[in-house]
Amino acid sequence: MNSDQAQKFVPVEKSPLHVTEEQRLIGIERCESYAASIQDYLEARKNIPAGLDLADDYADGRKRVLAALGGTGEDWQDWKWHVGNTITDLNTLGKIIDLNDDEREQIRSIESVCRWGISPFYASLMDRTDRDCPIRKQAVPSGLEVENRTDEPDKMVVTYNSPAPLVTRVYPDRMIINVTNACTMFCRHCLRRRDIGHENIVYAQKDLELALDYVREHPEIRDVLITGGDAFCVSDERLDWLLTELGKIPHVEMKRLGSRTPVVLPMRVTDELCDMLARHAPVYLNTQVNHPKEITEELRTATDKLIRAGVILGNQAVLLRGINADRHVMKKLMQDCLRVAIRPYYIFNCKKLNGIDHFRASIEDGLNIMEYLRGYTSGMAVPTYICTLPKSRGKTPVMPQYLLNINADGKARFRSWQGFVVDYDDAKPQAE
Ligand code: SF4
Repeated sequence: MNSDQAQKFVPVEKSPLHVTEEQRLIGIERCESYAASIQDYLEARKNIPAGLDLADDYADGRKRVLAALGGTGEDWQDWKWHVGNTITDLNTLGKIIDLNDDEREQIRSIESVCRWGISPFYASLMDRTDRDCPIRKQAVPSGLEVENRTDEPDKMVVTYNSPAPLVTRVYPDRMIINVTNACTMFCRHCLRRRDIGHENIVYAQKDLELALDYVREHPEIRDVLITGGDAFCVSDERLDWLLTELGKIPHVEMKRLGSRTPVVLPMRVTDELCDMLARHAPVYLNTQVNHPKEITEELRTATDKLIRAGVILGNQAVLLRGINADRHVMKKLMQDCLRVAIRPYYIFNCKKLNGIDHFRASIEDGLNIMEYLRGYTSGMAVPTYICTLPKSRGKTPVMPQYLLNINADGKARFRSWQGFVVDYDDAKPQAE
């Protein structure tokens, strides 16, 4: 007997799901109102550039970048070629995108202040002529970075939260080990700009040993994030060693990696890297995708390999004015992340930092976007919106208010995602 034969098939009209004709009509009407509530998005979505639809444009970009760098199709598949050919000079950049004299001058003005570097892969996604291209805005320096250099850095973040070399700890049961300050490209909005410095550093083995000693000596630490910079900027061997050492510590339950490399240089996600990560499964990896244009077939290939290796993927987007601080763009971004198996995890409000003020959107702008996500798309596509408070007071969630009040008579009153005010019978609070 197969499993179908074991089932008793019941027509729906004889089941608990049966509804009358009148009830069906009401259901149809309600569903039409749901569909109508996202018509604006369905229209707007058609005009949002999305990487999964841009393979032809990206192929042109690839040809342009290879020609500018003198590379081959074989080079393109080799992540070490990309790292060795990171674009850091105006002459090369000018062969890939149009740059006028003013833009060239702005980029020169940045160089004494903060370095810049674009992976050839990421450069191939840039629109040649459109100065508002969201990829270009994240990669190419702007004179506003100099104009906005006014604020003192938040010294608390580093100075008072490092109980051991390379360790950052601001929470009870989790901490960071910083392995490098290098990244496969330098994002213009980087919230860790201060750590990026002027040259790449991979931190010394003896300091990593001291960081591991700190984990061993603190049994309350159950979750360790390896990041930088970018965790995938260290060798497979070093990552393997670190994950192995962490795996030997009985109280470490979670090993996490922070890397934007799957987005900006997906070729780094090699079979060898994935084989190594599979030996340490489950590993959690949070990446950073900020616009649907960044979700490419190459990223899809990388995430496919990572999930087969037991890596659990999340996205930590940054809310960026002129890039994704728009309710339709953000919804498309969250939906497209799920298409490539990346679960939206956080949206960070862009902190007040030196040189990035022009990227900042207000807390209210972010709340309006969250309001537009919740209920209007899958819960899986709704991340937590976070303000990272100054003086190391931590990541703090901000969300639209749905609970209006709880009365003494045990009634709670809510505002639904559609704006209906609804009473709800609450349970009695537990005694202390
Ligand atoms: S990859 Fe992350 S740490 Fe590196 S520059 Fe970009 S945002 Fe900053």
